[in-house]
Amino acid sequence: MIKSKFPEVGTTIFTVMSQLANEHQAVNLGQGFPDFSPDEKLVSLVNEAMINGHNQYPHMAGVKELRDSIAEKMHTLYRHAYDADTEITVTNGATEALMSTILSMVHPGDEVIVIEPCYDSYVPCIKLAGGIPVFVPLSYSINKNPAYSIDWNRVEDAITAKTKLIILNFPHNPTGITLKEADLDAIENIIKNRNIFLIADEAYEHIVFDNKKFLSLSSRENIANKTFVISSFGKTYHITGWKVGYCCAPKALTAELRKIHQFVVFTVSSPMQYALAAFMKDASTYSGLSSFYQEKHDFLHQALLNTRFKPVKSEGTFFLLADYSEISSSNELDFTKKLAIENGVALIPVSAFYKNPSAVGSNNNMVRFCFAKKNETLEKALEVLSSI
Ligand code: PMP
Ligand code: GLN
Repeated sequence: MIKSKFPEVGTTIFTVMSQLANEHQAVNLGQGFPDFSPDEKLVSLVNEAMINGHNQYPHMAGVKELRDSIAEKMHTLYRHAYDADTEITVTNGATEALMSTILSMVHPGDEVIVIEPCYDSYVPCIKLAGGIPVFVPLSYSINKNPAYSIDWNRVEDAITAKTKLIILNFPHNPTGITLKEADLDAIENIIKNRNIFLIADEAYEHIVFDNKKFLSLSSRENIANKTFVISSFGKTYHITGWKVGYCCAPKALTAELRKIHQFVVFTVSSPMQYALAAFMKDASTYSGLSSFYQEKHDFLHQALLNTRFKPVKSEGTFFLLADYSEISSSNELDFTKKLAIENGVALIPVSAFYKNPSAVGSNNNMVRFCFAKKNETLEKALEVLSSI
């Protein structure tokens, strides 16, 4: 008899839907990964690193060259000077950065505020640390643009003497909303004079639409001083399978994070790190990503307007949500499963990003599309979607 530590946890919705897509040869617009290749130059740099002998354990915090390149990027883009030796840690994707950060900060009984809908890994990490997740819902109206918004008064109201951390994720998965200067003002006010820390999951930092500038939480000194800023090379360079990410945080916070990181993974694949260090020195490797994805976003949004789905515009990420209430009244999980099995298109139910996915309140007839796909893949899916 095994006493499960996570009796309520199953397999992630992303794995479930990709498996379903494989089984039924469905077009996979579910799990967030590109179906095209990374830049050949990046791949050759990995090869080169291996040939040059970078095949043993790198530094526990990450290859120095990569930490230097990250520090340079953070300073150029967000004007925050992180110390590469004491404030930057290379992690096994953003996923490991999140787990290690949360385990390092949250003590049993601590409360952690998350914004709902929220990325699926946060709550299990909080629970594993013995913490208590506190959910603050985004406001939603299909007739507004953007359809989702964050009410900082609700975040403020959720704070108690036990609040240790607030986890923010902008550009937001799954809704695609981003932060404005006024949001940063609100965040600054919320943490002022409080012993509360932040995690900024900025995995989609380089995918922001309509020529808007991405506002990293590292760009405000008073926020950066209390924040773990996490990102992922997976999204930026079409290499989700390499699992390389990083965390930038003030020295004292980084020291705590590394105590956990060193025993979770110890360190991260060496040749990938050398390759990324060299590749990211050229800012054009990420500066064109927003316009690359904007085209795909606009194409999918426009095409969905000619179907019975009601698409919602995203401000960033490679996801877009759409309402399917004209097509079906099934709950979101049933609708997406049926769509994958019977129609051959895999999507993600937005309800999977809620505390209780099967609750009526978590089901708003919304599905998530991933448009990090070749145009022919999107067209193939649209052929099906326009006929239902
Ligand atoms: N945070 C968010 C919001 C994500 O969407 C993802 C993955 N898509 C991650 C973290 C995990 O990133 P990684 O694949 O680098 O672990
Ligand atoms: N973050 C990706 C998404 O939102 C999936 C990553 C995963 O499968 N764990 O689709």
